[in-house]
Amino acid sequence: MRIGLLTKKLLHAALFDEIWDAMKVTFKHMFHRPITFQYPREQRTIPDAHRGALGLLRYDDGVERCVGCDLCEVACPSHCIKVVSAEDKNLPLERYASEFYIDITKCVFCGYCVEACPVNALAMTKMYEYSTHDKRTLLFDKKRLNEIGDRYLEDAKKYLIAHNQEKDDQRSREYRYFFPEPVLKSKN
Ligand code: SF4
Ligand code: SF4
Repeated sequence: MRIGLLTKKLLHAALFDEIWDAMKVTFKHMFHRPITFQYPREQRTIPDAHRGALGLLRYDDGVERCVGCDLCEVACPSHCIKVVSAEDKNLPLERYASEFYIDITKCVFCGYCVEACPVNALAMTKMYEYSTHDKRTLLFDKKRLNEIGDRYLEDAKKYLIAHNQEKDDQRSREYRYFFPEPVLKSKN
């Protein structure tokens, strides 16, 4: 029995069995469609519901959506949002965010801030390439958040629609929050 086993092992070794088994796997995969993306030359299709970097949005006429209510700051479980709101001196009924910060290094991409916003001023985008050697640049201020919102506006709208927070057949100003009549008049 032992001699039989030894002969078998010697035969396997002489015929390089392991190498042929490995080559079989290699040849099999040569005729399969590759599943590896050659990033960054090839980019994946990102789904609309993807939770990427946050951006601040404007209405189609360029007016900032954010009314500085701080609800996103309260909803954030990571305490990484800071909103400083101020009153518009020309329009006393209106407030806006004079400063807005998101520390993206602390963000867990839960989307609670987006859900909490009554005017859909915040949304997640498909932006994910913002790695850096300087961590300080990951404290997004209002300017950076507006830039992201402007650049990825279509993605952000798709995010809101995918998460049922905005409908594509409805004007965003009319969705979720109804502005008081004097405010609406002041906007027209
Ligand atoms: S996605 Fe979540 S963790 Fe990130 S800022 Fe919004 S509420 Fe905070
Ligand atoms: S982003 Fe939305 S929730 Fe946050 S302060 Fe502005 S309006 Fe309020």
